[in-house]
Amino acid sequence: MHSTYDIEVVEVGARDGLQNEPGAAGLSAETKVEFIRLLALAGLRRIEAGSFVKPQAVPSMANSAEVAALLQAVAREFPDAVFSYLVPNLKGLVRAREVNAKEVAIFLAVSESFSQANIHAGVDEAFIAIEPVVKEALSCGMRVRGYISNVFGYTDLPFSPQKVASRSKQLHDMGCFEVSLGDTTGVGTPERVDALVGAHVDVAFPLAQLAMHFHDTFGSAIANVERAYDLGIRTFDAATGGLGGCPYANSPKGNLAMEDLIRWCEARSVRCAVQDIALLESASAYIHKALGKKDKV
Ligand code: MG
Repeated sequence: MHSTYDIEVVEVGARDGLQNEPGAAGLSAETKVEFIRLLALAGLRRIEAGSFVKPQAVPSMANSAEVAALLQAVAREFPDAVFSYLVPNLKGLVRAREVNAKEVAIFLAVSESFSQANIHAGVDEAFIAIEPVVKEALSCGMRVRGYISNVFGYTDLPFSPQKVASRSKQLHDMGCFEVSLGDTTGVGTPERVDALVGAHVDVAFPLAQLAMHFHDTFGSAIANVERAYDLGIRTFDAATGGLGGCPYANSPKGNLAMEDLIRWCEARSVRCAVQDIALLESASAYIHKALGKKDKV
């Protein structure tokens, strides 16, 4: 972490966010890269930039290689920025290598039904299949971030902090430098955050390598950030402009908005990479306009 910052913020809008935005498939690589450039200009240095999954499965990420190529100019402008790409398998990793990715992310689930629906493999099977991907990425000099989704439970799995912690440990043992715990449906509460972080402490998981990825579906994301911070978590994911929508039709909120996270930092005097929220709001306005959304800011 940058020595003068209290927390690290990881921007997920250009991947996790856009992937779940209707209309994002129509965005050109140039538009995405301009959005990412504005994010970097706002101070963000850890930015998810794309995904090397099957283009048929995720059309909005089909131009990720083109995005990566155009990002080289942005990388020259912001040499300390790290752009990360999601890879589901070895095939995806090969594509990430072709664009000289320095960081890749892998994703797994603790719920059997979610794992089957999302990646067509059971939980154990998926963890076994991902290990060679992690090893290969490490041997190519990349760092690997692991995501675990639905950490506060899913339809077939009640909230089981111990189960999540043992899976986090498995990813850490494989060589992931960081594990990000995703509250995919936004059902986390501060009490559940207590239990989840506690379970990680119990298995001696280093909290410096644990990130939290909250969704604001039910309005609890900032309360969860607050609790996680007080428990010693120092890395948080968020999406500028709150990109990412939500699986529930009755709620417009998905990923925690980076603006909300930065406002919380300002209120708590927590230092982070974004010093000027107006720059972040410019990035937000830019991408909302490109998506044809009414600007919320
Ligand atoms: Mg998310």
